[in-house]
Amino acid sequence: PDPTLRPERLPDDADRALRPQALEEFVGQAEARANLRVFIESARMRGQAMDHTLFHGPPGLGKTTLAQIMARELGVNFKMTSGPVLAKAGDLAAILTNLESRDVLFIDEIHRLNPAVEEVLYPAMEDFELDLVIGEGPAARTVRIELQPFTLVGATTRLGLLTTPLRDRFGIPTRLQFYTEDELDQIVTRGARLLGIPSDPEGTREIARRARGTPRIAGRLLRRVVDFALVEGDGRLTQKIADRALTRLGVDHLGLDGADRRYMMLMAEHYGGGPVGVETLSAALSESRDAIEEVIEPYLLQQGLIQRTPRGRMLGQRAWHHLGLAAPVLPGA
Ligand code: ADP
Repeated sequence: PDPTLRPERLPDDADRALRPQALEEFVGQAEARANLRVFIESARMRGQAMDHTLFHGPPGLGKTTLAQIMARELGVNFKMTSGPVLAKAGDLAAILTNLESRDVLFIDEIHRLNPAVEEVLYPAMEDFELDLVIGEGPAARTVRIELQPFTLVGATTRLGLLTTPLRDRFGIPTRLQFYTEDELDQIVTRGARLLGIPSDPEGTREIARRARGTPRIAGRLLRRVVDFALVEGDGRLTQKIADRALTRLGVDHLGLDGADRRYMMLMAEHYGGGPVGVETLSAALSESRDAIEEVIEPYLLQQGLIQRTPRGRMLGQRAWHHLGLAAPVLPGA
């Protein structure tokens, strides 16, 4: 499948141009936004660092964007790193000791922190202190370093993989939801304006409907549709051009792409619709279990296309219908 249609971040991320810069411009996530507004305002009034904040939810829903907006609205620096990048305790210590008062430190994929690094994070989050071991063997000693107060913003696609002590140290845990079609329509309309392309309401709506509930995908689909509009149309984003472009890209009417359909087809054709364990699906699809659980399944679950049961995944009625297949008749039904 085409990686640019997936919700994951790519190394060269062109989404940046479409990133909202202020909480006012950020569409959707009404509850999270309303709460953040209060916490940001209160931190500013108190002149203190804002509480540590954890964003969790599927990729591409705006976790990084919100962290950047927080820093901007708090009027402080934004530093960004990620769990897998922080290999040693010293890597984190170097970043922490360079923070200025009330700065925002964003750690993406925080569920993938090495335990030794996580240990350093606890006193840093709690007391703004760092305990560093200097030297080795009998000469080793611990020095305590005072840090500037800062706000840690963690992001994770897998809340369940966070250790309890880490999770407990976040004052503000926030779950991000898939976006509605109306919200995505606003995002696409704004994006088209920023890219300088005239658009019909039916054109932006078509992209919104097929963006898998995810702003990152909406932005990428928009960019592809603009290419088609320029080369094969008259430079206007119409519904016809959007539909043609998305169909050519393999994005169907529910916004599902090749990977989603392969997943559902496998369950239908080889496992009679389930239940099937995730390990089995992972092996048969040659997709990592993480990718299946973090990227493919959340949207299919939200759409009622699959269900999770204690015995494994099951295809929902809607999925059979979408695949154009007859659902099996259950024994006794
Ligand atoms: P995450 O960190 O959750 O993977 P990002 O914050 O990197 O997601 O968002 C991905 C892209 O989607 C951003 O570059 C931005 O262009 C766009 N985006 C995310 N949320 C919104 C939003 N609420 N309004 C407009 N664009 C958004």
